[in-house]
Amino acid sequence: MPTRLVGGEAVASYSQRHASRNFSTAKEIEKAAEEQGFSVPGTKSASERVTLWRDLGGLHERAFTEPQIVAGNWVIERPLCERCAPAHERARGRLPRIGMVCVRHKRWLGQEQVDVAPIAETIVAERHWRRLLTPCGIVVECPVVLLAEEAATVGISKAVLEERAQRVAVPSPALLVYPETVRLARLLTRPSFLDAVLGDATAAWKRTMVEREVGMVLPDAEDAENWRAVARVWDLVLGLQDVVRDARLLGTVPEDRWNVLRLWSGFAEFEAVEVSRIDQLM
Ligand SMILES: [Zn+2]
Repeated sequence: MPTRLVGGEAVASYSQRHASRNFSTAKEIEKAAEEQGFSVPGTKSASERVTLWRDLGGLHERAFTEPQIVAGNWVIERPLCERCAPAHERARGRLPRIGMVCVRHKRWLGQEQVDVAPIAETIVAERHWRRLLTPCGIVVECPVVLLAEEAATVGISKAVLEERAQRVAVPSPALLVYPETVRLARLLTRPSFLDAVLGDATAAWKRTMVEREVGMVLPDAEDAENWRAVARVWDLVLGLQDVVRDARLLGTVPEDRWNVLRLWSGFAEFEAVEVSRIDQLM
């Protein structure tokens, strides 16, 4: 019986689904294949196992090729949409090009999957994610997204949270702040923002700019602690400035734990330094 591959699905997930649909287990099938001279190494995604299951499933050669790392960000393996694959089969895989929503089925892809059709903002946010964040190599749970989510969580208006919570069956915290998370992640990875905070302007000007930009995503309402979100973003700004200052002093390439400096226009100056250093060493 054929088993359709779900986009991004991992070989461990597919082999188990395909085997159980055919009244067997992945282990038994791999053992039988081995007896017929097909070697299946122990590691989860070893190439022979990938080839075996591609053959058994009649799959195209791009199956099981999703990257583990995108632009320096780790791509996590996560549960896939329960409508794209039957829920009880629990398909898992890597989805480096999408955020937290299956747009086709309007499902939130968190630990508990829920229908987000009533919260249209999340679907709009997902489209923004794919159009603006994906091309920058931003993936789910990468450091800058975690920071954006944290800032959104502490800085959002309570009334907005409560109103959204009433529209969804399982109001998980990450789902409720998803629109703000995406907008903040966009802000923190926008080259013009990075230019502004790493440029020559005064600290006071930068601080005002950060307050204004964060305020556009998380308004300074009476039932919100917008200043807490500003504080999170300001920490990132100071952290980036430190890393860049040190790299200039030491003549090295700056490395930041949020992995956003690579999107800053000034980053090229350091790469040029690095290339000339390597040339000198050669
Ligand atoms: Zn789906």
